[in-house]
Amino acid sequence: MIDCTGFGTTAADKPLQRLGFKRRDVGVNDVKIKIQFCGVCHSDLHFARNEWHFTVYPAVPGHEIVGEVVELGSSVKDFKLGDRVGVGCLVDSCRTCPSCQEGLEQYCEVGHTQTYAGTEKVIGGPTFGGYSDSIVVDRAFVLRIPPGMELSSAAPLLCAGITMYSPLRHWGAAAGKKVGIVGLGGLGHMGVKLAHAMGATTVLFTTSASKTADGKRLGADAVVLSKDPEQMAQHTATFDLIIDTVAVTHDLAPYLNLLKRDATMVQVGAPEHPLPIAVFPLLMKRRNFAGSTIGGLPETQEMLDFCAEKNIAADVEIIPIQKINEAYERMLKSDVKYRFSIDMSSLAAT
Ligand code: NAP
Ligand code: ZN
Ligand code: ZN
Repeated sequence: MIDCTGFGTTAADKPLQRLGFKRRDVGVNDVKIKIQFCGVCHSDLHFARNEWHFTVYPAVPGHEIVGEVVELGSSVKDFKLGDRVGVGCLVDSCRTCPSCQEGLEQYCEVGHTQTYAGTEKVIGGPTFGGYSDSIVVDRAFVLRIPPGMELSSAAPLLCAGITMYSPLRHWGAAAGKKVGIVGLGGLGHMGVKLAHAMGATTVLFTTSASKTADGKRLGADAVVLSKDPEQMAQHTATFDLIIDTVAVTHDLAPYLNLLKRDATMVQVGAPEHPLPIAVFPLLMKRRNFAGSTIGGLPETQEMLDFCAEKNIAADVEIIPIQKINEAYERMLKSDVKYRFSIDMSSLAAT
């Protein structure tokens, strides 16, 4: 087994700290990656603090992983040492069920293995995420980072990017469509950039008046302060699609009222507690309320290539791993512009 160093926690109420743990040896189909940057997703915080009530400790978060190939299994012919690669939220799935056959591994019907919060298939125990020096992953779950893309700002594409790209594509964001993005955080800022790049008329809903200028700079045609009923009312029944990234319980009715007849609101934010749904806004215009999670491997590569072509990546604030607990507190205050990206070389200083 491989000795790894990372940052994680041993209990929901403890800060993250340096941890040693073991990963499996490099198998014939595996790639070993030296991790250079790892994005900080709000899911990492939910998971570290057991807000979804399934965390197994010790817990090492991180599923926006980029780095360099440093070792290859004997059967891996399509990567070479030094390649720039990425790993997102998935490290395995059954590969045979109908969803896996369609490249929708995120909906694997047998059960996929998540990068963290999963069960290690070879050595057992929990899977450990990307707040660490290296990771061993089956080559089928390794993505290619397009040439020229900055690694620090590519990392957040592996979760935030694909989580927005997939529903935008599935529900047809394109020229002639009006798309709303709720919340300008890690997911939301990628949603604004991607919806704009797909040609949709893009509207940002924010609770932070201070983010208005940034929303426009990132690609929003309009920015609406969601706490202002008058601003909201100007958009009644005009949206084809709204994607909600908010991580806490909040009222959905004001957004549902902005959808056209038959249009869809997609929830990607994953609050700890159930969201109340007022049914009348749904009934009165046959509106839909849906969910979506990350994306499969083919679509994730497609998203990376789309971002390269459109010159899109995340806006990041690079931090050393020693600042991770502070970063979590800032994330809870919506004080992130717009994704923390951990420079993993900082681990050496711990
Ligand atoms: P984030 O960076 O913290 O962004 C969340 C944004 O929500 C904030 O920046 C803020 O934007 C807005 N917000 C915060 N508090 C609010 C409130 N009380 N009312 C309304 N809006 C509020 O988080 P993230 O990393 O983007 O993740 C967002 C959520 O998506 C998390 O629950 C995460 O677990 C989930 N997630 C789901 C998937 C999936 O596959 N479905 C994948 C990744 C993450 P403004 O300041 O603009 O209002
Ligand atoms: Zn994530
Ligand atoms: Zn499957």
